[in-house]
Amino acid sequence: MSDKDTDSKPKFKDLNICMELRKTCRKLKYFHPTPIQLKSIPHALNGKDLICASQTGSGKTLAFILPILQKFIEEPHSYFALILTPTRELALQTAETIETVGKKAEVKAASIIGGLSSSEQKAILKEKPHIIVGTPGRIVDFLDNTNLLKLEKIKFLVFDEADRLLSMDFENDIKKIIEKCPESRSTYLFSATMTSGVKKLKNYCLKKDAVKIDLSNN
Ligand code: ADP
Ligand code: MG
Repeated sequence: MSDKDTDSKPKFKDLNICMELRKTCRKLKYFHPTPIQLKSIPHALNGKDLICASQTGSGKTLAFILPILQKFIEEPHSYFALILTPTRELALQTAETIETVGKKAEVKAASIIGGLSSSEQKAILKEKPHIIVGTPGRIVDFLDNTNLLKLEKIKFLVFDEADRLLSMDFENDIKKIIEKCPESRSTYLFSATMTSGVKKLKNYCLKKDAVKIDLSNN
């Protein structure tokens, strides 16, 4: 690829990503936003809810992490965002990405998942993490049995791999979690496919003026 081609490709700066996060992106060798990042990030930074579909490996994690971290840098506090994932592995991986990309802002991400002892997880929550990443079942378990998860302060609620979350019988848990989050939050639905279940969840939990970006057939 010639220099000219590279120059004409969009950059994170064009999306109004702040200098601090741009520097980190460069360090991690994220030089240009992927198509889903390019389409979704401006709306997210404008405060819109999002429903986005694009194939696996297209960069959806950064598409929701960057706007959340940018808002966090402006106004940091504990229990800032809640990210729901279908599996433990994905929760751990996402929490790690958040801490890597948000390193300069000293973001603390906690994974609330099965497999860790509940006393370990209670200890993590007592440190008042900024971002919680977890599986719906375990999150509901904590909501029912402890008073450590303060969802009333949540500014961002994310459903990652929403199609898989819905195919795993998490619907009742998801409803319970939504009820505990403030209505003033922003909500993002990310998925590889735009299934009928995902569309139903959109009607249930996104604002009426949510932005839909469907690149799943590209
Ligand atoms: P998805 O959630 O859509 O399946 P991921 O967010 O897991 O995709 O990203 C897939 C891979 O692409 C990861 O290794 C990630 O680090 C990389 N990636 C994400 N955004 C960019 C970018 N802008 N430039 C280069 N690599 C990127
Ligand atoms: Mg993903």
